[in-house]
Amino acid sequence: MCHTVGMMTRDSWKVHLNCPACGVVGEADVSEDAQPLTPQTGTLTVDRVSDGFRTRTLGSSMRTTKFECVRCGMVTQR
Ligand SMILES: [Zn+2]
Repeated sequence: MCHTVGMMTRDSWKVHLNCPACGVVGEADVSEDAQPLTPQTGTLTVDRVSDGFRTRTLGSSMRTTKFECVRCGMVTQR
C-alpha cells in the first residue's frame, strides 16, 4: 500500500459525469476524509461540480452520492 506521511489525510479525486439523456459531460471534484475514527457520517465533500450538473444526493461515500444533469434531471452514470 502507498503511504503518505503528513497531517493531511484527505483524499480527493475527480468524478467524470455524463448525462445519458442529452450527452453533456462534466466532472466533479470530491474529497473524503481518510480518518477511520471519524464518528460522523458525511465525510464525503463535493468541492466543485461542472456547470450543467449538480449534486442530487450527498452521501457519506461515492456509493451513496449521486449527481444529476440540471437540464434533464437525469442521474449521471459514473
Ligand atoms: Zn442532460
